[in-house]
Amino acid sequence: MLYIDCEKCTACGLCEDTCAFAAITVQEDCAVVNDNCTLCGACVDNCPEDALRIEVADKRLQEDAHTFSGVMVFAECRHGLIAPVTYELLGIGRKLANQRQVPLSVVLLGHEVANYCDSLIAGGADTIFLAQHPSLAQFREDVYAKLLARIIQEQKPEVVLAGATAIGRSVIPYVATLVGAGLTADCTKLEIREEDGMLLQTRPAFGGNIMATIECPHTRPQMATVRPKVMAPATPDPARTGTVVHIEAQEDELHTATEVLETVQSEEDQVNIQEVEALVAGGRGLTSEKGFALLRELATELNAAVAASRAAVDAGWIPYPHQVGQTGKTVSPKLYIACGISGAIQHAVGMQSAEVVVAINRDAEAPIFNIATYGLVGDLYEVIPELIRQLQEAKR
Ligand SMILES: Cc1cc2nc3c(=O)[nH]c(=O)nc-3n(C[C@H](O)[C@H](O)[C@H](O)COP(=O)(O)OP(=O)(O)OC[C@H]3O[C@@H](n4cnc5c(N)ncnc54)[C@H](O)[C@@H]3O)c2cc1C
Repeated sequence: MLYIDCEKCTACGLCEDTCAFAAITVQEDCAVVNDNCTLCGACVDNCPEDALRIEVADKRLQEDAHTFSGVMVFAECRHGLIAPVTYELLGIGRKLANQRQVPLSVVLLGHEVANYCDSLIAGGADTIFLAQHPSLAQFREDVYAKLLARIIQEQKPEVVLAGATAIGRSVIPYVATLVGAGLTADCTKLEIREEDGMLLQTRPAFGGNIMATIECPHTRPQMATVRPKVMAPATPDPARTGTVVHIEAQEDELHTATEVLETVQSEEDQVNIQEVEALVAGGRGLTSEKGFALLRELATELNAAVAASRAAVDAGWIPYPHQVGQTGKTVSPKLYIACGISGAIQHAVGMQSAEVVVAINRDAEAPIFNIATYGLVGDLYEVIPELIRQLQEAKR
């Protein structure tokens, strides 16, 4: 917490000028701090009167931390299908579990989903905690959170992983609150520190300009979400064996404040830019939504889907499910054609693991050319029609 000693404060205003978060204002004869404060300490360093100090509560490792062991993955089931991110979590979960020499478990909640146990075990799981009930057929965060929290409290895993998807993002913070643990969202790298077994959770911070590595030294389990397509799934091994533990959902856990009236398939489900092999992406350089008609023509020739930068989405030329990048989706197709996209870091973090990147941009200095496998410098309205023409000719 930031403490202000009004006896020492001379209301000089230096702290207010220094604060990058508008978290401190000088009122009458003393500075006042508000909720924007991030405890960055800039004001403390700059106060000539020593009137400011930050005190961090003396937190200790939770007493029973040594009883937590194992890595647990929350299996995401949508419309009765396991989301691919689950297998990616099993891939990284297996590595972490091997390093810690502990088992890897999966929590699978749903209705008539037992048929997935074999593929989850083949994907790396040692144990499946399976809860099946007609009331679990539809995802409801309060019901899923209560059940998952109970399983975590009983099994005491040291690490819990979930997908940074719409479902993961809604249920996992709820679970973290119920079990009193911290949570690192949107991790791009997870590793174990050899010396003490701590989970090191790396994620972009400050608008993607730095990568922050976060540890959770005081509470267990250590909880993290991982974006789809960031981790590689393990190669399935059908010879692997594992155990299925049946969990009985209790009446109070199934009680919910939510009534599902209808399920409507979102455009996101229909587009699914994360699961196609080729993407043709457009940015502000298209100058209007008409540019996407041209991109769709090229995409048809390549059997690709259409994606976009945030600038194109913000302009209303294409809906959000198509957005690639830090606040959009992470994609790793075999081919990514970036048309009229500058290659800002927030866009690049979402597509730089594509196998082949083709950039079309009229600015030869655009940063996208730094990550492109092939670069075409020119006006996209001249280059793309020519590409389409040549593709069509090659097919004849
Ligand atoms: C917290 C935060 C999160 C963000 N998240 C995302 C995100 O998820 N995804 C994302 O994309 N961005 C994101 N951004 C925005 C990002 O910083 C950039 O502003 C954005 O990516 C720029 O989009 P763009 O490349 O389409 O547009 P611009 O940067 O304006 O680039 C347009 C490019 O088109 C080229 N061009 C113009 N006309 C033509 C033409 N006729 N032919 C060929 N080339 C042409 C120009 O040379 C230029 O390089 C985020 C920003 C912040 C701060």
